[in-house]
Amino acid sequence: MNDDDFSLEPDFDPEERFQKYQQQVEPEFWKHKKLEEMSDLEWELLCDGCGKCCLNKLEIKGKIHFTNARCRFLNPATCLCKIYPYRFEVVPDCRDVNLAAIREKPRWLPKTCAYWLLDNGFDLPDWHPLKTGRAASVAESGNSLCNRPLVDETEVKDYEDYIVDWQDL
Ligand code: SF4
Ligand code: SF4
Repeated sequence: MNDDDFSLEPDFDPEERFQKYQQQVEPEFWKHKKLEEMSDLEWELLCDGCGKCCLNKLEIKGKIHFTNARCRFLNPATCLCKIYPYRFEVVPDCRDVNLAAIREKPRWLPKTCAYWLLDNGFDLPDWHPLKTGRAASVAESGNSLCNRPLVDETEVKDYEDYIVDWQDL
């Protein structure tokens, strides 16, 4: 299989998509709605596109350890999944971020994940697109995987060698 067979359209622009969809939701909807009450569009807009959920993890003695080994299908330049429409067919252990996954223990989503934050009573961080009005604010503030030292999972022999202790995981 060639990765490029499943690429998103080359002209896909996350900023354009965000600008279009944020006009269609109530301002600060996340402050008065529970995750269960959100529309599909509101749910989608909560995802900041950080890419951190696409890092490989190890569970050791009941604790999740993140590695800097990224899924082979995560584009490290954009933090976009290259096979998003087909991800569950191609990658059997790719996780759907639904309520059960958000509430799973031990926590496997990064501590900056918007879904996890809201579900645990926190506000969105100041760099979140819904606060700044721009999708690019995640990468610009250093809160996406862009410009971090990542390894393609296909190059990994032992994941324990790639455990990282980044503060935002
Ligand atoms: S960690 Fe959460 S906010 Fe970041 S890309 Fe994954 S689902 Fe979206
Ligand atoms: S297949 Fe799943 S884990 Fe891999 S980049 Fe896509 S969304 Fe992330």
